[in-house]
Amino acid sequence: MQTNFTAEQLADPYVAESEKILRRCVHCGFCTATCPTYVTLGNELDSPRGRIYLIKDMLENDRPADAEVVTHIDRCLSCLACMTTCPSGVDYMHLVDHARIHIEKTYRRPPMDRMIRQMLAMILPYPSRFRPALALARLGRPFAPLLKGIKPLRPVAAMLELTPQGRLKHSDSSRPGVRAPEAAPRGRVAILSGCAQPVLDGGINEAAIRLLTRLGVEVVVPEGEGCCGALVHHMGKEEPALDFARRNVDVWTREIERGGLDGIIITASGCGTTIKDYGHMLRLDPAYSEKAARVSALAKDVTEYVATLELPAQDSKGMTVAYHSACSMQHGQKITVLPKTLLKQAGFTVRDPAEGHLCCGSAGTYNIMQPEISAQLKARKVRNIEATQPDVIATGNIGCMTQIGSGTALPILHTVELLDWAYGGPKPAKLA
Ligand code: SF4
Ligand code: SF4
Repeated sequence: MQTNFTAEQLADPYVAESEKILRRCVHCGFCTATCPTYVTLGNELDSPRGRIYLIKDMLENDRPADAEVVTHIDRCLSCLACMTTCPSGVDYMHLVDHARIHIEKTYRRPPMDRMIRQMLAMILPYPSRFRPALALARLGRPFAPLLKGIKPLRPVAAMLELTPQGRLKHSDSSRPGVRAPEAAPRGRVAILSGCAQPVLDGGINEAAIRLLTRLGVEVVVPEGEGCCGALVHHMGKEEPALDFARRNVDVWTREIERGGLDGIIITASGCGTTIKDYGHMLRLDPAYSEKAARVSALAKDVTEYVATLELPAQDSKGMTVAYHSACSMQHGQKITVLPKTLLKQAGFTVRDPAEGHLCCGSAGTYNIMQPEISAQLKARKVRNIEATQPDVIATGNIGCMTQIGSGTALPILHTVELLDWAYGGPKPAKLA
């Protein structure tokens, strides 16, 4: 694609990077076929190619974002299916990241939109705020249908509807400290506790820690780590996102220097995609660029690390698992086969639902901010999963677990919970 930026514009490293990305696009439109919003809405402006044109026009003309650009960029799930499909290697992820930063700086959103975004940014990344907020939301759940009828309050209704119904399990897995290996030592890793996940389902990291320590891995939960920054990053709030990244880079660097790390283990693929990008996010910060690149190189999805431990094949469990590959797993991190191989090796029969490349509509806070599109994608995903007639659904991202779990009666577990069970851990409570 031809671009027309001035030398002055290209002096801005963000514009210079976006220009390079834009130049790779050859307008072929292959990406439209796999874009969930184009497939759902049928509007070229809700396709990757349409969004690329909108971003190009906005940046080239040095224009503040307008309502049209914001509408179509906000509808993008950042699922990155377009990057998997694109034959020209267009780095849509970093282009849309730049567009979102530009929108945040130049566009004044309607008051209710601003308020909800601010509230999400102030609550979700902090477990000590998210936990009581969730308790309040459960009390407010019966009002969701009422709020749905008031357009600006639909995100609040969506938030209430997503609130998990059952008792939330208290977990010790985020408590800082070292979990000693229970077999001959084979490695030392740090594990990310994260922000929303330990509140919504503390059992996931418990299972990961149990499995790893049983296999001889020392697991460190470092003091001071927090949200990876993905939630605010996807809202275009660049400085808070970089602050979260710097804080984690400092914590893990200390741990690398103290005892060495074979990996930084992440059990939420949405966080994994962001942490693997820290090197890029902090590339312009001379104090952090090198440290951040080192952290990104050590970041591993839990299944990537478990695969290096060469687990033995197990007898059949007589249980069929529908494997839902989170977008951040398959498109963001290009981990496609590995989790299924581990599950099969652990004795499960694994089925691939149709249209596995399409997002379930979770996408960070997307299911709150874009509830109508998200609901359509959820219904489509649940239909495809249920058609495989599984006993259980497995996936590697808490966002997908919450989203899909709110649309089906089938139990939905993290892949590592099934692996932990298959290799000597307790049977997950959801399967009782
Ligand atoms: S990231 Fe997903 S929703 Fe956004 S343009 Fe690409 S395929 Fe479409
Ligand atoms: S597939 Fe790639 S090159 Fe083709 S229109 Fe989409 S982004 Fe551009």
